[in-house]
Amino acid sequence: MRAVAVFPEKREVRIVERQPPREVKGAEVLLKVLEVGICGTDREIAFSGHATPPTGGDHLVLGHECLAEVMDVGPEVTLVKKGMLVVPTVRRPCPHARCRPCRAGRQDFCITGDFTERGIKGQDGFLQSFVVEDEMNLVVVPRQLADVAVLTEPLTVAAKAWKQGEGIQARLPWDRPRLRALALGAGPVGLLGALGMVINDMETFVYSLEPATSVRAKLTRDMGATYISGQDVPLAELGDELGHLDVIYEAVGVSSVAFAALSALGPNGICVLTAVPALGEHRTIDTDRLMRQLVLQNQVVMGTVNASRRDFATAFHFLEQGMLLFPDAVRGIITERSTIDGAPRIIAKREGIKQIVHLADASAPFA
Ligand code: BGC
Repeated sequence: MRAVAVFPEKREVRIVERQPPREVKGAEVLLKVLEVGICGTDREIAFSGHATPPTGGDHLVLGHECLAEVMDVGPEVTLVKKGMLVVPTVRRPCPHARCRPCRAGRQDFCITGDFTERGIKGQDGFLQSFVVEDEMNLVVVPRQLADVAVLTEPLTVAAKAWKQGEGIQARLPWDRPRLRALALGAGPVGLLGALGMVINDMETFVYSLEPATSVRAKLTRDMGATYISGQDVPLAELGDELGHLDVIYEAVGVSSVAFAALSALGPNGICVLTAVPALGEHRTIDTDRLMRQLVLQNQVVMGTVNASRRDFATAFHFLEQGMLLFPDAVRGIITERSTIDGAPRIIAKREGIKQIVHLADASAPFA
């Protein structure tokens, strides 16, 4: 079978031949991979030379945003059945007894850094025809969501942010009728974050560089949110333009932009940082001004990474609601579906919004 792998020493992505998985045992599940989404993380690890192959190997199979179909189950499997569609989680726990988050199944909060991530760090990913996965790492998808379910993993970023944000903002125990929220950046994570905010009844704005006539702007409006182009409103004027915001959901990965946008955050507001900026450039910010603002206005700046099983389940709810309310806008986030042969090209070059590798069609559901 074929797989798409990165060879870090050569900074090269290519298709490799691999043995298909063996028979499943215990709680293992054999999956036929249907679709895999490509994101900034894939591109980063593909070409930075920093990919971490499984121990002893010289390459890493890419792919962590996956939709798959259950082909076979081990004798101890109880959660999934043959023919079901599933989305796998990404991170696997570290081995250390002292890491309470990992021991509790919350490796998304691992404290040792020795976790692995499929397709990212130390474990092959899903960009291959068949994979084996433990049932505990699978979340079942309703077939009705099949054409967009590959968006689940990037949507879990919003789901986890939502859960944590709710917990943090429980510090404001009065009724707040309709929160005002901004997604910073109109890439897949920004647009899916906006989707989560709209679904949760927030007055939602998306701020991004593309013009107000762009496809991204149209998708934003189709979701019932307001698009503001950086070409019309400079970042420094965003606060004046929008008034105070309760939530900023950052999805641009440029720290100077993220911190400049904080000037638009209102009293008691929360800013969630989701993107991982490249290292190297040193930027200057006025830390006194920033600290005064955070203290005097009771503000929170929070980072979030990865997601738990429960966040995947929440992401399905967001997706389900999105598909009921504005299906074309949700579908519109996927701008290209390529074959596996096209995978090295779409990993090398980002075009459109979300690029997907389509590996196989789902089998017809059982009668
Ligand atoms: C993935 C996360 C992962 C993070 C850091 C993101 O692109 O969605 O699952 O934890 O990269 O590796």
